[in-house]
Amino acid sequence: MADFLTTLNRNPLTAPLAKALGLPNPVPLARSATGYETTPYAGKAVLLQAAPNSYAHASLLQAVRNGGGEPVLSGFSEKLDVAVFDATGCSTPADAQALYETFHGLARKLAVNGRVLIVAALHDDSAAPVAVATARGVEGFARSLGKELGRKGVTVNLAYVAPDAVERLEGVVRFFCGTQTTYVSGQAVRVTATAAVAPAAPAPAYSSALAGKVALVTGSARGIGLAVAERLLQEGAQVVCLDVPAVEQELQQTCARIGALPLALDIAAPDAPARLSAYFRERFGGLDILIHNAGITRDRTIANMTPVQWDQVLAVNFAAITEIDKVLLQDGTVRDGGRVVCLSSISGIAGNFGQTNYAYTKAALIGYVAAQAGRLGARGICINAVAPGFIETAMTAKMPFFMREMGRRLNSVQQGGQPRDAAELITFLATPGASGLTGNTIRVCGQGLIGA
Ligand code: NAD
Repeated sequence: MADFLTTLNRNPLTAPLAKALGLPNPVPLARSATGYETTPYAGKAVLLQAAPNSYAHASLLQAVRNGGGEPVLSGFSEKLDVAVFDATGCSTPADAQALYETFHGLARKLAVNGRVLIVAALHDDSAAPVAVATARGVEGFARSLGKELGRKGVTVNLAYVAPDAVERLEGVVRFFCGTQTTYVSGQAVRVTATAAVAPAAPAPAYSSALAGKVALVTGSARGIGLAVAERLLQEGAQVVCLDVPAVEQELQQTCARIGALPLALDIAAPDAPARLSAYFRERFGGLDILIHNAGITRDRTIANMTPVQWDQVLAVNFAAITEIDKVLLQDGTVRDGGRVVCLSSISGIAGNFGQTNYAYTKAALIGYVAAQAGRLGARGICINAVAPGFIETAMTAKMPFFMREMGRRLNSVQQGGQPRDAAELITFLATPGASGLTGNTIRVCGQGLIGA
């Protein structure tokens, strides 16, 4: 989908006009067309610093080294590609001074498309209120830093880590300090040991990360779902692309092109859960990755909304997902160690004019993953939600021009995301390296200025 400002700014004939009019000039965002690299930090300038008494430092150092980098531990004179700051030791207002001291000097040194990851303590209910507040303060700091640096394409994210989950940081560091996080900024995730990992499990693979896994992506004839299917295939998974029977021909052609298996099915059909269970058990003996991507909009203000518009959106975006999970999770079709990702939306966080039905369903999914995470943890199944902001797809192409332009520009990087950007985050959540993430909702929105 063409972004007219990007086109204007990149054309030597029209760029001077765009500049004279003071139009935003979004920075070209770094994107990778390939799968994960085994050594993403090789040749990069990485800074790793810690507030006094921090507990994640050794794990972070190892994580960077395992990715082929050798971090600078104090002082920095050159441009930095990646900065990791361990704030787990911050437990009083005075400790937060370390954040100021580090980032005051560092902000101008970050390269275009640089990456910042701050790690803070995840406290349990027994922690001192001031320690909890200090850790929470880091979130405000990180989000603000993201807004200040976003125009350079720099992403800033925060990982709260529980003391017993520091060894699960490596995959998180790889994603949030890697190219793939390009449209994910201003996010705060919780890294926990909620999902069991078998004691003898091999170390997570960071290339061909999904070899041997079976994945289902609903609503994948086009848009974000198709990009997810392609990205999962790139990591070595076998992928089944599901979409409504009305687009079966398109689905078959797409699957033949990308190397996936087509499955024409309406997820809201009453027999969909049973059919899916039978399909995956007979064909593959089970399912490892379940991406609930299919979704619809039927926008009207509540006063003008018909009962059908309300019902259709609730049936597809919410009820179908819970019905499918009820069967596939309970009958063991989704194998232990599996991954479930639900597509939410920033509408589910901030609400949106004309979308009471849609926002209801997308908010419901945020509550759903949070409630399911603890229940599925013992089986090693992680369940998370991804909330896209403005992604350039057929769904957003339908929006009126001015709303579309607002959606595109009202974020820290001043541009819409690509389906691939959402696919990067969703794919990461499906990998073994994301075993510390469950019950989270992560936005892929270029740090949208709308909502949290
Ligand atoms: P899209 O409309 O381009 O594609 C959705 C796909 O789902 C279509 O191929 C459609 O045929 C399929 N689908 C619809 N109902 C179905 C059903 N009952 N059974 C099976 N398949 C069905 O949408 P998209 O923009 O790629 O969005 C994908 C997901 O991301 C949706 O859940 C959407 O709500 C969410 N999302 C998208 C954006 C965005 O900016 N594009 C923003 C926030 C959230």
